[in-house]
Amino acid sequence: MTLDCDVAVVGAGPAGSRTARNLARAGLRVRLLEEHRAVGVPSHCSGLISPRTLREAEIGEEAIIHRLAGAFVHTEAGSEVALGGGDTRAVAIDRVRWDETLCDQAQAAGAELVRARVTGVEREDHRVRLHTQCDGREASFTARLVVGGDGSHSRVARTLGLAGPPEKVYCLGVEGKLRPARDARTGVPRGDDFVHVFVGQDLAPGWFGWIIPTGEGRVRAGIGCRPGHKPIACYRRLTDRFPGLFADIEPCRFYGGTIPLGFAPRSYGDNVLLVGDAAGQVKPFSGGGIYTGLVAARHAAAAALSAFAADDLSARALSRYERDWKREIGRELRRSLRLRRVGLALGDAHVERVVRALSASGGLQSLAVRHGDIDYPSRVLLRLARSAPALALLASVTLRRPGAALNLLRAHLPFAV
Ligand SMILES: Cc1cc2nc3c(=O)[nH]c(=O)nc-3n(C[C@H](O)[C@H](O)[C@H](O)COP(=O)(O)OP(=O)(O)OC[C@H]3O[C@@H](n4cnc5c(N)ncnc54)[C@H](O)[C@@H]3O)c2cc1C
Repeated sequence: MTLDCDVAVVGAGPAGSRTARNLARAGLRVRLLEEHRAVGVPSHCSGLISPRTLREAEIGEEAIIHRLAGAFVHTEAGSEVALGGGDTRAVAIDRVRWDETLCDQAQAAGAELVRARVTGVEREDHRVRLHTQCDGREASFTARLVVGGDGSHSRVARTLGLAGPPEKVYCLGVEGKLRPARDARTGVPRGDDFVHVFVGQDLAPGWFGWIIPTGEGRVRAGIGCRPGHKPIACYRRLTDRFPGLFADIEPCRFYGGTIPLGFAPRSYGDNVLLVGDAAGQVKPFSGGGIYTGLVAARHAAAAALSAFAADDLSARALSRYERDWKREIGRELRRSLRLRRVGLALGDAHVERVVRALSASGGLQSLAVRHGDIDYPSRVLLRLARSAPALALLASVTLRRPGAALNLLRAHLPFAV
């Protein structure tokens, strides 16, 4: 069977649905393919986003299920610092409804949602042929452009020979209910508008653990780690290490998930674009990819539309996409990646000192509060580095030579704190 369309978007996640909407709105024949029966199900996400993301998604405040004002950062050794307070810094969303809403927007603009798994894509005379499978039935059709919005294990990228993001973090997520009277039992002073973040290389090698209150006595918790470690084992260690925070969480659902880190070497090719996790458009500090995926989707659709207008879907014509999305978010993602590497290479003893320094200094904390932004974390981290005299050079060196920055930090940190 051959059913032609202008654009086949693979994956009805945020990045795919948004690209599909913008292209359909401009009058292209768009087919949006999703392998799961229900869009957004099962969710593999904690659903924490910035208020800015709501604006980018053009979704109103009705999507918010809980507002968060700050974060406690806990080290393995037991230090803790509270950052934030006051204004809403982030919001928790119902991730399933979020994906449904974005997909509804795409369909309302004219995109056709097709429930099928794409099993492969091949190039064919200035077009691509997509092979699909649904309820055991196989089919294929052609499109002039395929957009891979199919997540961190992108089949579109793999079958068209595009390399994926260089690094991956494996996560275990937990949705849970809080048993009552937890504050009374633990004595830890905290409201339910603060996230908890847990750092430590033995606890969460290469990543971190988290608890996100989502209102009405519910939480989303989890942990990530680099390959070679088991997220479930890390989660057990985390709950043992912080019984006061985890003992009262009654798990209702466990899920796994993969976070890609670092950009795919190329997010475009002849007749193909990659968006969202498939292209590694993810924040390297938090793994958050909803905002960045939506931004990239806006650029993907704009580049595709100008390629269609010029009747040229070659890699050269589509290369504008990579230039445009990198111009908007590439610098932040690159900087955060470097700062993350410096942080990891420092080791727990130094991270411990940084957390202690932060908790002892009202000035540093208020700087963090003033400039904290979950979509652009490098800005506040660099400000913090610049504000500590012995780290004055660190910020600029980090941007150019992470190795040198690390040596500098090792040499000066004991005096800085
Ligand atoms: C544990 C965890 C917690 C996270 N928490 C947050 C958070 O709090 N905030 C945040 O911003 N980000 C978070 N993220 C990251 C966020 O979930 C992703 O960055 C985001 O979902 C990427 O969107 P996407 O559209 O690129 O891909 P996805 O959301 O992964 O969507 C891809 C879609 O493609 C479909 N698909 C895949 N292959 C095929 C195929 N062959 N054929 C048809 N359909 C296919 C999938 O079913 C899916 O619907 C988290 C990730 C993990 C793992």
